This record gives sequence, structure tokens and C-alpha cells, in this order.
Amino acid sequence: MQRNNRFSTFYGILVSRPLSRLYRRWVFARLMRDEIRIKRPIKQELWDAGMRECQACGQRFSALKGAELHRKDEDKGYSVENCELLCRECHQELPGR
Ligand SMILES: [Zn+2]
Repeated sequence: MQRNNRFSTFYGILVSRPLSRLYRRWVFARLMRDEIRIKRPIKQELWDAGMRECQACGQRFSALKGAELHRKDEDKGYSVENCELLCRECHQELPGR
């Protein structure tokens, strides 16, 4: 198989461009789903423990949906101990997330 514009490599495998795009989308969707699967229970646990306001500005959340998970130490992974809830505005101002 000759390499030309119609093909691109995906993890070292030569595939047609439309297929490669499809793969990338699939991998991205999987990553997003894993992230939600990890983050959601932590958010819920912090919420249930009584963290009902932004830990930076003190604004009360009306619902858990409005809260965003922030890692206190971005070198560490997502865990209840390493995470806090922030409002969207505060979260966007912080590096790392
Ligand atoms: Zn805030």
C-alpha cells in the first residue's frame, strides 16, 4: 500500500482518512466517557459531604450540575481527598483544572 493523501497513520496503522477521523472521534469519546465516570462519583461524594459552595469565592451552588471538579494538586489524580468543587468562573481562572 502506498502512502498518499488519502491515507494517514493511526497508531502506526495505515488507514484511509475518513476511517482515521472516525477512530480519533471514537477514542476521544471513550476518553470523555472515562473522565465522566471517574469525576461524577467524586463530585457527588463532595456534594453529599456538604460542599455546597464554591471553595474559592463562596458562591452557593443551586445544583451539583453547576459545580466543577478541581484538583487541588494537579500532579495527583482525581480523588475525593484531592478534589474540591468550584464554580465555573473560578475554575476557568485557575490553571491545571
Ligand atoms: Zn467561585
